[in-house]
Amino acid sequence: MDSAADILTGDRERLAIVSDENGEHGEHAEHAENGRDDTSDPTGSAEDATAEDAPAEDAPEDGAPADGARAEEPAGRAGDPAVGAEYLADRAADGEGVWDVVVVGAGPSGAAAAYAAAVAGRRVLLLEKAELPRYKTCGGGIIGPSRDALPPGFEVPFQDRVNAVTFSHNGRFTRTRRSRRMLFGLVNRPEFDQRLVESAQKAGAEVRTGVTVSRVEQHGPTVPDRRTVAVVLQGGETLLARSVVGADGSASRIGAHVGVKMGQVDLGLEAEIPVPGTVAEDWRGRVLIDWGPLPGSYGWVFPKGDTLTVGVISARGEGAATKRYLEDFIGRLGLAGFEPAVSSGHLTRCRTDDSPLSRGRVLVCGDAAGLLEPWTREGISFALRSGRLAGEWAVRIAEAHDAVDVRRESLNYAFAIKAGLGVEMSVGRKLLAVFERRPGMLHAAITGFRPAWRAFADITRGATTLAELVRSRPLAQRALTALER
Ligand SMILES: Cc1cc2nc3c(=O)[nH]c(=O)nc-3n(C[C@H](O)[C@H](O)[C@H](O)COP(=O)(O)OP(=O)(O)OC[C@H]3O[C@@H](n4cnc5c(N)ncnc54)[C@H](O)[C@@H]3O)c2cc1C
Repeated sequence: MDSAADILTGDRERLAIVSDENGEHGEHAEHAENGRDDTSDPTGSAEDATAEDAPAEDAPEDGAPADGARAEEPAGRAGDPAVGAEYLADRAADGEGVWDVVVVGAGPSGAAAAYAAAVAGRRVLLLEKAELPRYKTCGGGIIGPSRDALPPGFEVPFQDRVNAVTFSHNGRFTRTRRSRRMLFGLVNRPEFDQRLVESAQKAGAEVRTGVTVSRVEQHGPTVPDRRTVAVVLQGGETLLARSVVGADGSASRIGAHVGVKMGQVDLGLEAEIPVPGTVAEDWRGRVLIDWGPLPGSYGWVFPKGDTLTVGVISARGEGAATKRYLEDFIGRLGLAGFEPAVSSGHLTRCRTDDSPLSRGRVLVCGDAAGLLEPWTREGISFALRSGRLAGEWAVRIAEAHDAVDVRRESLNYAFAIKAGLGVEMSVGRKLLAVFERRPGMLHAAITGFRPAWRAFADITRGATTLAELVRSRPLAQRALTALER
């Protein structure tokens, strides 16, 4: 494994290699086509090309009647590479060989979508390019809304439960706040994500790993009729579905097909640092959040047993300064002497307000849709919540018989997302704008003003959301408006 030092010496090539090891293999050339390669330039010194496909009109539907009796098992099922596109196209004519829902990407959003569609009794295929469990650059912070969105009975594999937060402002003015109750939990993403996939499998979804989706097509020779989407895999195999959910992360190909537009782009750098027992003990149950030196940046220490996840995030385009921040941060914490087991970087992207969430029979959710909290860049709860909605609406779209039905259901999906997560994102954007200009004030409020700390605790616990808080408390609303000026 590569060390944090490899990143901190500014070796961009090495950083890309680390990302490769994290299951992002072989993407560079093809992502570059979309201009959205997370791994080729994670330090963000080059501007991202945004030559995404313009969203075309919804693929027309032919108003064909409902399927007759359904095949017991779709002909293009997992693990059967002999089943080719032509064969599938033939069988599609009478509804055989067509999955109700194909989900691309088996992170939290994809697993949640597959689970939701599978518990509704539909034929669901979940496709993942990596072998599971796969590494994901992430703090693994599971806040209340993430817990609330998990499948019933899901046991979260917590590595630690947090009831204290140490805040600092670029290493200074350090203060620890404690709570009697758990604020949020910490997981290792490989284990957490794999369990989510297992839940979807138990609900009836079929899972196929080690397969990369190259593109989806909604018209043309690979598409047998207007009620079907072709999912083309690397290597040429084609699968057919009545609807597709794109859950393929922040460099999403399905997002490019839909025409998702990203506004805010940030670079996160992280090191997984194994530490001796005495150091681990010092961190147990406590995280550190450091408001950083770059506008909108912050750093964190998330303890997970004998390993500390130490990371920073900042606007893309400041790659060298972001690396320096991580280096200084690790040094200040006295952790520079410990060799990281993993050092990696990843971009996060937030959608613009007017960005589409669907195109024809294809929906996007999670990072693929640019759904994450703009201030904290918390994305797991957004992935789980939007994934569940996408799975539910994909089922309705799968059953839609014509373009009008499809349009209605996709608008309903967009409405559900915008009314919930969209509102949370717009409040998050405002808070980020305030934080970018006045980090010291935010630090002073949260460490010195009890209601601000209580609000932080309530949000992380899931007792309220930032949007709800601003809506229901006139004082919070007035404070935010005043600070925005
Ligand atoms: C440094 C950093 C720290 C973070 N910390 C936190 C945190 O503490 N808490 C939190 O809530 N959020 C955090 N986030 C955000 C969080 O990691 C993401 O929002 C979350 O993983 C989104 O889930 P997802 O399922 O949408 O995408 P992902 O988790 O990225 O999953 C996408 C999946 O799709 C697969 N895939 C991609 N392309 C294809 C393809 N073409 N074919 C098939 N499969 C494909 C990928 O292999 C991957 O498994 C952090 C992000 C970063 C960068």
